[in-house]
Amino acid sequence: MKIALIAHDRKKDDLIQFVIAYQPILMENSLYATGTTGQRIIDETGLPVHKFRSGPLGGDQQIGSMIAQDEMDMIIFFRDPLTAQPHEPDVTALIRLCDVYNIPLATNMGTAEVLLKGLKEGFVDWRLIRERRG
Ligand code: PGA
Repeated sequence: MKIALIAHDRKKDDLIQFVIAYQPILMENSLYATGTTGQRIIDETGLPVHKFRSGPLGGDQQIGSMIAQDEMDMIIFFRDPLTAQPHEPDVTALIRLCDVYNIPLATNMGTAEVLLKGLKEGFVDWRLIRERRG
């Protein structure tokens, strides 16, 4: 399963704590991230992460491109709802593509926990079954 991890600056500490807490589940999957988020995950957890560009420089759009090519299975995106983002249109576009392609998307820690627990229990296996069908 391919999982993308993204966090706005004021949510990055929360995401690192989340990744540490759910490392046993996350390490069974292929991890992707926007640039700064990915580097912090690598530095602070040692997990292998494929890094895209930083979000404001196109990283969210690169992840959106993977969704459009049917190459991404889940997005965990800790958004900061209290700070204006220069790349807000990219954020909106990414969320829209999740809805277009029915990609499970968590925009806060509460939902992210449910998604990863669901992943562990096999509730997201329909994506794998579809992958096997080609
Ligand atoms: P970053 O990008 O991980 O490079 O900070 C995240 C974002 O703001 O979309």
